[in-house]
This record gives sequence, C-alpha cells and structure tokens, in this order.
Amino acid sequence: MYVYNIGDMNMDSIRLKARAKINLGLDVLGKRDNGYHDVRMVMQTVGIYDRLIINKIPEDDIRIDINLKFLPVNENNLIYKAYKLMKDEYGFSGGIEVDLNKFIPIAAGMAGGSTDAASAMFAINKLFNLGLSNRELMEQGVKIGADVPYCIVRGTALAEGIGEKLTRLAPMPFCHMVVAKPPINVSTKMVYDSLDSGAITKHPDIDGIIEAINEGSVIKIAERMGNVLEDVTIPLYPVIDKIKKDMISQGAYNAMMSGSGPTVFGIFPDEQTALNCKEYLKRQGDARQVYITETFN
Ligand code: ATP
Repeated sequence: MYVYNIGDMNMDSIRLKARAKINLGLDVLGKRDNGYHDVRMVMQTVGIYDRLIINKIPEDDIRIDINLKFLPVNENNLIYKAYKLMKDEYGFSGGIEVDLNKFIPIAAGMAGGSTDAASAMFAINKLFNLGLSNRELMEQGVKIGADVPYCIVRGTALAEGIGEKLTRLAPMPFCHMVVAKPPINVSTKMVYDSLDSGAITKHPDIDGIIEAINEGSVIKIAERMGNVLEDVTIPLYPVIDKIKKDMISQGAYNAMMSGSGPTVFGIFPDEQTALNCKEYLKRQGDARQVYITETFN
C-alpha cells in the first residue's frame, strides 16, 4: 500500500492505493464440510487500484463515501466489516471517515472489496498506533474474506487452504496486460457453489506456473495458465470465451478468466500490442470496461 504520510505518530489521515489481483492459476482440490473449498492459486497484484483516503474522527463511528452510489456504505461494505472487526478486537477509541474512489471493476474476480478491506485494516493499524504485524493483520483479515490476507501482502504468491495460506513466490517478471470486464456481475459464492470439485478432469499445472515464474519466463507462465472456475462461469456467459479468443487473436500470449470471473486478462509481449487489443475490444463492444495494466510487485 502506498502511504504518503507515514512515520508520524500523530498521523490522522492516510491515503492508500488498494490494488487489484489476477489469478495466474486457480485450482480447486476439494470441498470442506463447512462449504469452503480447498484451493491452490497463483496470485498476482496488478496496477489497477482503488484510492482510499482515511481520516481519523473523534466519534466511535465509521462513515464511508464512495464515488459509485450503488455500492453499500453500511455493514455490507467490506471496509465497514474491517473497521468493526478491528474495533471489537483491539478496542481503540475514535473512528474513521473513508473516502473511496473505486476504479477496480465490481464483482469481477479481482478482489476489489477484499483489497479495500485489507487497506482499511492497514490504515487503522497505523492511525491508531496498534503496532500490529502483517501476520496479525492477516490472521484477522481472513475472518472478513479468504482473499484479504493476500491483499495485505500482495505481489506474487501461492495461496492454499481456503486462500489464506500464503507462500511468497519470486516476483512475476514485468509484463503488459489487458483486462476486460463484460457487463455481467458474477457472484463468487454462486460459482463455487455450482462447482463439482470431484468432477474436475483437467487441473491446471500450478507447479508448472511456479517453475515458469522461477525461470522468469512470461511466455511459459502464459502457456501454463489455467482456471477451473472457467468451467462454471463460461457456459453461463460465453462472452468470456469470445473475449479470450479476441485477445489471443490480437497478439496475447494467452488470456484467461480471473477468479470466478467474468473479468478476462491477457498477457501481451509489449505495450503497443496491448493498446491495439484494447482498441479492438472496445470496437467489438463485448466488454465495456477495458483497461491496460501491468504486473505490480
Ligand atoms: P473476489 O475477486 O474477491 O471474488 P469480486 O471482484 O468478485 O471479489 P467485489 O468487487 O469485491 O467482487 O465485490 C462484490 C460485491 O461485494 C459487490 O457487489 C458489493 O455489493 C459488495 N462490496 C462490499 N464491499 C465492497 C467494496 N469495498 N467494493 C466493492 N464491492 C463491495
């Protein structure tokens, strides 16, 4: 998280960039009795971010203002949940006022809400001098969502368990990407609930992706990418497959759905090819939100 004014013990305002993620690989190993799935995912932070300005207020309260008025500002917002959790757990006095500018596509498979929650926890720790380590923030964060611990550490990582067991990997080499979201909102819960993990026949080569990362080969990473959730989301929304094919026809090394979708990302050999692809996708009109981004480590 990028902090402009850190290091001041009496700091009362903090500005952060809450970054989005993509999955280079997403495998599901099985389902637990409590309904959670055991996963193996290779996570990568990308340049797209939400901007948060968090101010301390004297009242024991949280106020959230978002540029997108259809999003909840009450207890259904993950930032609210993060505040409530920290308040209950550490009992600091005072509250926060949050100004959130959303740029990460919503319900897109890019952990938008989780990264906002992770940033809020990071900010509360600093603003109220709680002195918590990243490890402690991660242990609390998983109570909000399985992706929150990853959003605290960021970079290139292997996520196991329900997503909370993290192993830092060598940073994925820098590369240009196109991210395109068709105008559909996909519920992560619906996708996991519809997945029959016992029936998965083709598991992505997660170890192969890690090997390619260690070799520093973007092409090999791209070749080995795989996401078992595509088997659930693509039959429901074939436009996802159309966007993948369009990206590949426009010069991507490969393209894949991120998380539970519907966002598709493509990995490109250079910025110009990525820019041309973005224009092409916009002309095609299947995705209204199309962005150029890059790996962020
Ligand atoms: P993931 O990749 O973790 O599955 P996602 O990208 O699919 O996340 P989000 O954009 O995080 O999904 O949020 C999905 C829903 O969660 C939204 O429709 C919204 O109602 C709710 N929500 C709660 N807090 C936030 C937040 N801070 N930003 C965006 N959505 C939020």
